[in-house]
Amino acid sequence: MFEKTYKIVHQSTFSKEDLVHLISLEGEERDFFLKETSNKYIQNLGNKVYFRGLVEFSNYCTKDCLYCGIRKSNTSSERYDIDDAEILKAAKFAYDNHYGSIVLQSGERDDKRFIDRITELLKKIKEVTDGKLGITISLGEQTEDTYQKWFDAGAHRYLLRIESSNKSLYQKIHPNDSHHDFETRINCLNLLQKTGYQTGTGVMIGLPFQTYEDLADDLLFFKDMNIDMVGMGPFIEHTETPLYQYKDQLWSLQRRFEVAINMIAALRLLLPNINIAAATALQAIDPMGREKALKFGANVIMPNITPTIHRKDYTLYQNKPCTDEGADDCSNCLSIRVEMADRKIGYDEWGDSKHFFKRTAIEQ
Ligand code: SF4
Repeated sequence: MFEKTYKIVHQSTFSKEDLVHLISLEGEERDFFLKETSNKYIQNLGNKVYFRGLVEFSNYCTKDCLYCGIRKSNTSSERYDIDDAEILKAAKFAYDNHYGSIVLQSGERDDKRFIDRITELLKKIKEVTDGKLGITISLGEQTEDTYQKWFDAGAHRYLLRIESSNKSLYQKIHPNDSHHDFETRINCLNLLQKTGYQTGTGVMIGLPFQTYEDLADDLLFFKDMNIDMVGMGPFIEHTETPLYQYKDQLWSLQRRFEVAINMIAALRLLLPNINIAAATALQAIDPMGREKALKFGANVIMPNITPTIHRKDYTLYQNKPCTDEGADDCSNCLSIRVEMADRKIGYDEWGDSKHFFKRTAIEQ
Protein backbone atom coordinates (compact mmCIF):
# COMPACT_ATOMS: atom_id res chain seq x y z
CA MET A 1 0.00 0.00 0.00
CA PHE A 2 1.17 3.57 -0.79
CA GLU A 3 4.34 2.21 -2.40
CA LYS A 4 5.25 5.43 -4.18
CA THR A 5 5.00 7.47 -0.98
CA TYR A 6 6.97 4.88 1.00
CA LYS A 7 9.69 4.88 -1.62
CA ILE A 8 9.97 8.69 -1.70
CA VAL A 9 10.10 9.04 2.10
CA HIS A 10 13.00 6.58 2.29
CA GLN A 11 15.07 8.19 -0.48
CA SER A 12 17.99 10.45 0.35
CA THR A 13 17.49 12.90 -2.52
CA PHE A 14 14.23 14.45 -3.70
CA SER A 15 13.16 15.81 -7.07
CA LYS A 16 10.60 18.58 -7.49
CA GLU A 17 8.07 15.92 -8.60
CA ASP A 18 8.71 13.93 -5.40
CA LEU A 19 8.08 17.02 -3.31
CA VAL A 20 4.89 17.93 -5.18
CA HIS A 21 3.66 14.38 -4.57
CA LEU A 22 4.27 14.63 -0.81
CA ILE A 23 2.96 18.16 -0.35
CA SER A 24 -0.31 17.44 -2.12
CA LEU A 25 -1.20 14.20 -0.28
CA GLU A 26 -4.61 13.84 1.34
CA GLY A 27 -6.51 11.30 3.45
CA GLU A 28 -5.01 7.96 4.47
CA GLU A 29 -1.98 8.26 2.24
CA ARG A 30 -1.17 11.58 3.90
CA ASP A 31 -1.46 9.98 7.36
CA PHE A 32 0.93 7.25 6.18
CA PHE A 33 3.44 9.80 4.85
CA LEU A 34 3.41 11.80 8.10
CA LYS A 35 3.87 8.72 10.28
CA GLU A 36 6.74 7.35 8.19
CA THR A 37 8.43 10.77 8.18
CA SER A 38 8.01 11.19 11.92
CA ASN A 39 9.68 7.82 12.61
CA LYS A 40 12.56 8.60 10.25
CA TYR A 41 13.03 12.09 11.69
CA ILE A 42 13.09 11.00 15.33
CA GLN A 43 15.63 8.29 14.52
CA ASN A 44 17.91 10.84 12.86
CA LEU A 45 17.46 14.03 14.86
CA GLY A 46 16.15 12.86 18.26
CA ASN A 47 13.10 14.24 20.03
CA LYS A 48 14.43 17.52 21.48
CA VAL A 49 12.45 20.72 21.03
CA TYR A 50 13.86 24.17 21.75
CA PHE A 51 12.06 27.20 23.16
CA ARG A 52 12.42 30.74 21.84
CA GLY A 53 10.57 33.31 23.96
CA LEU A 54 8.92 35.58 21.42
CA VAL A 55 8.75 39.35 22.08
CA GLU A 56 6.77 41.24 19.44
CA PHE A 57 7.89 44.61 20.76
CA SER A 58 6.40 47.02 18.22
CA ASN A 59 3.87 46.96 15.41
CA TYR A 60 4.97 50.21 13.76
CA CYS A 61 6.01 49.36 10.23
CA THR A 62 7.25 51.39 7.26
CA LYS A 63 6.14 48.74 4.77
CA ASP A 64 2.88 47.86 3.15
CA CYS A 65 2.86 44.12 2.39
CA LEU A 66 -0.54 43.34 0.90
CA TYR A 67 -1.29 40.43 3.26
CA CYS A 68 -0.30 41.97 6.59
CA GLY A 69 -2.61 43.32 9.29
CA ILE A 70 -0.02 45.78 10.59
CA ARG A 71 0.94 47.24 7.19
CA LYS A 72 1.44 50.99 7.43
CA SER A 73 -1.73 51.79 5.47
CA ASN A 74 -3.97 49.95 7.90
CA THR A 75 -5.16 52.91 9.95
CA SER A 76 -7.42 50.74 12.09
CA SER A 77 -4.44 48.93 13.66
CA GLU A 78 -3.71 50.29 17.14
CA ARG A 79 0.04 50.95 17.21
CA TYR A 80 2.33 50.23 20.16
CA ASP A 81 6.02 50.24 20.98
CA ILE A 82 7.04 48.49 24.18
CA ASP A 83 9.69 50.37 26.15
CA ASP A 84 13.13 48.88 26.67
CA ALA A 85 12.61 48.21 30.39
CA GLU A 86 9.65 45.96 29.58
CA ILE A 87 11.57 44.15 26.85
CA LEU A 88 14.43 43.54 29.27
CA LYS A 89 11.94 42.20 31.80
CA ALA A 90 10.64 39.76 29.20
CA ALA A 91 14.21 38.69 28.36
CA LYS A 92 14.93 38.14 32.04
CA PHE A 93 11.71 36.11 32.32
CA ALA A 94 12.87 33.88 29.44
CA TYR A 95 16.29 33.46 31.06
CA ASP A 96 14.90 32.71 34.53
CA ASN A 97 12.49 30.18 33.06
CA HIS A 98 15.29 28.33 31.24
CA TYR A 99 14.06 29.09 27.71
CA GLY A 100 17.60 29.30 26.37
CA SER A 101 16.75 31.93 23.72
CA ILE A 102 14.46 34.76 22.76
CA VAL A 103 13.24 36.18 19.46
CA LEU A 104 12.84 39.95 19.09
CA GLN A 105 10.41 40.87 16.34
CA SER A 106 8.77 44.08 15.16
CA GLY A 107 7.51 45.86 12.10
CA GLU A 108 10.27 47.04 9.78
CA ARG A 109 12.12 50.31 10.38
CA ASP A 110 15.57 51.38 9.23
CA ASP A 111 15.93 54.85 10.78
CA LYS A 112 19.06 55.58 12.80
CA ARG A 113 17.17 55.96 16.06
CA PHE A 114 15.71 52.48 15.68
CA ILE A 115 19.02 50.91 14.65
CA ASP A 116 20.88 52.44 17.62
CA ARG A 117 18.11 51.49 20.00
CA ILE A 118 18.29 47.84 18.94
CA THR A 119 22.08 47.81 19.22
CA GLU A 120 21.90 49.07 22.81
CA LEU A 121 19.02 46.76 23.66
CA LEU A 122 20.91 43.68 22.44
CA LYS A 123 23.90 44.61 24.60
CA LYS A 124 21.67 45.13 27.64
CA ILE A 125 19.89 41.79 27.14
CA LYS A 126 23.27 40.05 27.09
CA GLU A 127 24.24 41.95 30.27
CA VAL A 128 21.13 41.06 32.28
CA THR A 129 21.30 37.40 31.26
CA ASP A 130 25.03 36.88 31.91
CA GLY A 131 25.62 36.51 28.17
CA LYS A 132 23.77 33.21 28.30
CA LEU A 133 20.47 33.95 26.57
CA GLY A 134 20.59 33.26 22.83
CA ILE A 135 19.08 36.04 20.71
CA THR A 136 17.30 35.69 17.38
CA ILE A 137 16.11 38.87 15.69
CA SER A 138 13.52 39.36 12.99
CA LEU A 139 13.69 43.00 11.98
CA GLY A 140 13.47 42.93 8.23
CA GLU A 141 15.64 44.26 5.44
CA GLN A 142 18.62 46.31 6.63
CA THR A 143 22.05 47.33 5.34
CA GLU A 144 25.12 45.13 5.76
CA ASP A 145 26.45 47.65 8.27
CA THR A 146 23.32 47.34 10.42
CA TYR A 147 23.35 43.55 10.28
CA GLN A 148 26.98 43.65 11.42
CA LYS A 149 26.25 46.12 14.27
CA TRP A 150 23.47 43.92 15.62
CA PHE A 151 25.58 40.78 15.24
CA ASP A 152 28.45 42.41 17.16
CA ALA A 153 25.98 43.51 19.84
CA GLY A 154 24.94 39.91 20.52
CA ALA A 155 22.28 38.65 18.07
CA HIS A 156 23.36 35.40 16.43
CA ARG A 157 20.30 34.22 14.51
CA TYR A 158 18.17 36.23 12.05
CA LEU A 159 14.81 35.44 10.51
CA LEU A 160 13.82 37.06 7.22
CA ARG A 161 10.94 35.35 5.49
CA ILE A 162 10.88 35.35 1.71
CA GLU A 163 7.09 34.62 1.90
CA SER A 164 7.23 33.13 -1.61
CA SER A 165 10.32 32.21 -3.61
CA ASN A 166 8.34 32.61 -6.84
CA LYS A 167 9.22 36.15 -7.96
CA SER A 168 5.98 36.77 -9.79
CA LEU A 169 3.91 35.56 -6.81
CA TYR A 170 6.07 37.69 -4.49
CA GLN A 171 5.23 40.68 -6.65
CA LYS A 172 1.51 39.91 -6.47
CA ILE A 173 1.53 40.00 -2.66
CA HIS A 174 3.66 43.12 -2.29
CA PRO A 175 3.32 46.66 -3.62
CA ASN A 176 5.19 47.17 -6.85
CA ASP A 177 7.88 49.59 -5.64
CA SER A 178 11.52 49.71 -4.58
CA HIS A 179 10.64 49.16 -0.88
CA HIS A 180 9.24 45.73 -1.65
CA ASP A 181 11.77 44.34 -4.06
CA PHE A 182 12.30 40.59 -4.44
CA GLU A 183 16.00 40.87 -5.32
CA THR A 184 16.65 43.07 -2.27
CA ARG A 185 15.14 40.37 -0.06
CA ILE A 186 17.40 37.71 -1.58
CA ASN A 187 20.40 39.98 -1.25
CA CYS A 188 19.60 40.53 2.44
CA LEU A 189 19.53 36.77 3.03
CA ASN A 190 22.98 36.55 1.44
CA LEU A 191 24.26 39.43 3.58
CA LEU A 192 22.96 37.76 6.74
CA GLN A 193 24.88 34.60 5.93
CA LYS A 194 27.97 36.60 5.06
CA THR A 195 27.77 38.46 8.39
CA GLY A 196 27.77 35.16 10.25
CA TYR A 197 24.17 34.78 11.38
CA GLN A 198 22.36 31.49 11.51
CA THR A 199 19.94 32.50 8.82
CA GLY A 200 16.26 31.68 8.70
CA THR A 201 13.54 32.27 6.18
CA GLY A 202 10.07 30.96 5.43
CA VAL A 203 6.95 31.17 3.32
CA MET A 204 3.19 31.39 3.61
CA ILE A 205 1.19 28.37 2.53
CA GLY A 206 -2.11 28.67 0.72
CA LEU A 207 -1.68 32.16 -0.72
CA PRO A 208 -3.97 33.23 -3.54
CA PHE A 209 -2.46 32.16 -6.92
CA GLN A 210 -0.07 29.69 -5.22
CA THR A 211 0.29 26.11 -6.55
CA TYR A 212 1.80 22.89 -5.18
CA GLU A 213 4.62 23.42 -7.70
CA ASP A 214 5.35 26.84 -6.16
CA LEU A 215 5.53 25.25 -2.73
CA ALA A 216 7.88 22.50 -3.92
CA ASP A 217 10.07 25.25 -5.39
CA ASP A 218 10.02 27.01 -2.01
CA LEU A 219 11.47 23.90 -0.38
CA LEU A 220 14.15 23.65 -3.07
CA PHE A 221 14.87 27.37 -2.60
CA PHE A 222 15.65 26.74 1.10
CA LYS A 223 18.07 24.04 0.01
CA ASP A 224 19.73 26.10 -2.74
CA MET A 225 20.12 29.08 -0.38
CA ASN A 226 21.72 26.85 2.25
CA ILE A 227 19.23 28.09 4.85
CA ASP A 228 19.76 27.10 8.51
CA MET A 229 16.26 27.64 9.90
CA VAL A 230 12.73 27.81 8.51
CA GLY A 231 9.47 29.15 9.93
CA MET A 232 6.45 28.65 7.69
CA GLY A 233 2.74 28.46 8.27
CA PRO A 234 -0.66 28.74 6.64
CA PHE A 235 -1.72 32.02 5.07
CA ILE A 236 -4.65 33.43 7.05
CA GLU A 237 -6.44 36.30 5.41
CA HIS A 238 -6.90 39.58 7.30
CA THR A 239 -10.00 41.67 6.58
CA GLU A 240 -8.09 44.98 6.60
CA THR A 241 -5.69 44.04 3.79
CA PRO A 242 -5.81 44.19 -0.02
CA LEU A 243 -5.35 40.41 -0.37
CA TYR A 244 -8.67 39.88 1.42
CA GLN A 245 -10.42 40.46 -1.91
CA TYR A 246 -9.24 36.99 -3.01
CA LYS A 247 -10.71 35.19 0.00
CA ASP A 248 -13.12 33.17 -2.15
CA GLN A 249 -10.27 31.75 -4.23
CA LEU A 250 -8.33 30.32 -1.29
CA TRP A 251 -8.07 26.69 -0.23
CA SER A 252 -10.20 25.99 2.86
CA LEU A 253 -8.47 26.81 6.15
CA GLN A 254 -8.33 23.09 6.92
CA ARG A 255 -6.59 22.35 3.62
CA ARG A 256 -4.10 25.19 4.17
CA PHE A 257 -3.34 23.65 7.54
CA GLU A 258 -2.88 20.15 6.08
CA VAL A 259 -0.58 21.38 3.35
CA ALA A 260 1.44 23.40 5.89
CA ILE A 261 2.03 20.21 7.92
CA ASN A 262 2.90 18.33 4.70
CA MET A 263 5.42 21.08 3.88
CA ILE A 264 7.06 20.79 7.32
CA ALA A 265 7.35 17.00 6.98
CA ALA A 266 8.68 17.20 3.41
CA LEU A 267 11.20 19.86 4.46
CA ARG A 268 12.41 17.66 7.32
CA LEU A 269 13.13 14.92 4.76
CA LEU A 270 14.85 17.33 2.39
CA LEU A 271 16.94 19.16 5.03
CA PRO A 272 17.28 16.82 8.01
CA ASN A 273 19.58 19.01 10.13
CA ILE A 274 18.01 22.49 9.95
CA ASN A 275 15.81 24.04 12.65
CA ILE A 276 12.12 24.19 11.78
CA ALA A 277 9.71 26.28 13.86
CA ALA A 278 6.15 25.25 14.69
CA ALA A 279 4.49 28.51 13.58
CA THR A 280 1.81 30.05 15.80
CA ALA A 281 -0.45 30.46 12.75
CA LEU A 282 -0.93 26.66 12.77
CA GLN A 283 -2.67 26.91 16.12
CA ALA A 284 -4.98 29.61 14.80
CA ILE A 285 -6.58 26.92 12.61
CA ASP A 286 -6.20 23.75 14.69
CA PRO A 287 -5.95 23.91 18.51
CA MET A 288 -3.35 21.11 18.30
CA GLY A 289 -1.60 22.69 15.32
CA ARG A 290 1.82 23.27 16.83
CA GLU A 291 1.91 19.81 18.45
CA LYS A 292 1.21 18.26 15.06
CA ALA A 293 4.05 20.31 13.56
CA LEU A 294 6.38 19.05 16.32
CA LYS A 295 5.34 15.46 15.69
CA PHE A 296 6.01 15.65 11.96
CA GLY A 297 9.23 17.65 11.66
CA ALA A 298 9.41 20.93 13.61
CA ASN A 299 11.89 21.19 16.50
CA VAL A 300 11.48 24.82 17.64
CA ILE A 301 8.51 26.41 19.38
CA MET A 302 8.10 30.07 20.31
CA PRO A 303 6.17 30.80 23.53
CA ASN A 304 4.83 34.33 23.27
CA ILE A 305 6.27 36.40 26.13
CA THR A 306 5.18 39.80 24.81
CA PRO A 307 3.49 41.72 27.67
CA THR A 308 -0.16 40.65 27.39
CA ILE A 309 -1.75 44.06 26.91
CA HIS A 310 -0.01 44.46 23.54
CA ARG A 311 -0.41 40.96 22.15
CA LYS A 312 -3.76 41.52 20.54
CA ASP A 313 -2.29 44.40 18.49
CA TYR A 314 0.44 42.35 16.76
CA THR A 315 -2.00 40.76 14.38
CA LEU A 316 -0.32 40.06 11.08
CA TYR A 317 -3.30 37.71 10.57
CA GLN A 318 -6.62 37.31 12.41
CA ASN A 319 -7.76 34.75 15.07
CA LYS A 320 -4.25 34.68 16.48
CA PRO A 321 -4.12 32.34 19.51
CA CYS A 322 -2.84 33.08 23.04
CA THR A 323 -3.32 36.85 22.76
CA ASP A 324 -4.88 37.06 26.22
CA GLU A 325 -2.57 34.89 28.31
CA GLY A 326 0.28 36.05 30.53
CA ALA A 327 3.76 34.69 29.79
CA ASP A 328 3.51 32.19 32.66
CA ASP A 329 0.30 30.71 31.31
CA CYS A 330 1.85 30.49 27.92
CA SER A 331 4.97 28.59 29.00
CA ASN A 332 2.98 26.18 31.19
CA CYS A 333 0.58 25.48 28.41
CA LEU A 334 3.43 24.94 25.97
CA SER A 335 5.43 22.52 28.12
CA ILE A 336 2.32 20.34 28.42
CA ARG A 337 1.75 20.64 24.69
CA VAL A 338 5.31 19.61 23.87
CA GLU A 339 5.04 16.57 26.12
CA MET A 340 1.75 15.65 24.48
CA ALA A 341 3.63 15.51 21.19
CA ASP A 342 6.13 13.04 22.78
CA ARG A 343 8.93 15.56 22.55
CA LYS A 344 11.41 16.72 25.19
CA ILE A 345 12.24 20.38 25.90
CA GLY A 346 15.91 21.36 25.71
CA TYR A 347 15.83 23.74 28.71
CA ASP A 348 18.66 26.30 28.92
CA GLU A 349 19.95 25.26 25.49
CA TRP A 350 20.35 27.57 22.52
CA GLY A 351 19.33 24.73 20.25
CA ASP A 352 21.38 26.08 17.35
CA SER A 353 20.91 24.80 13.83
CA LYS A 354 23.20 21.83 13.19
CA HIS A 355 23.09 22.77 9.54
CA PHE A 356 24.75 26.10 10.34
CA PHE A 357 27.84 24.45 11.82
CA LYS A 358 28.12 22.09 8.88
CA ARG A 359 27.70 24.95 6.38
CA THR A 360 30.25 27.21 8.02
CA ALA A 361 32.79 24.39 8.48
CA ILE A 362 32.58 23.73 4.74
CA GLU A 363 32.90 27.45 3.91
CA GLN A 364 36.05 27.90 6.05
S1 SF4 B 1 4.90 41.66 6.81
FE1 SF4 B 1 6.45 42.68 8.09
S2 SF4 B 1 7.35 44.25 6.73
FE2 SF4 B 1 5.41 43.61 5.77
S3 SF4 B 1 3.91 45.10 6.54
FE3 SF4 B 1 3.85 43.31 7.94
S4 SF4 B 1 5.25 43.81 9.60
FE4 SF4 B 1 5.66 45.22 7.90
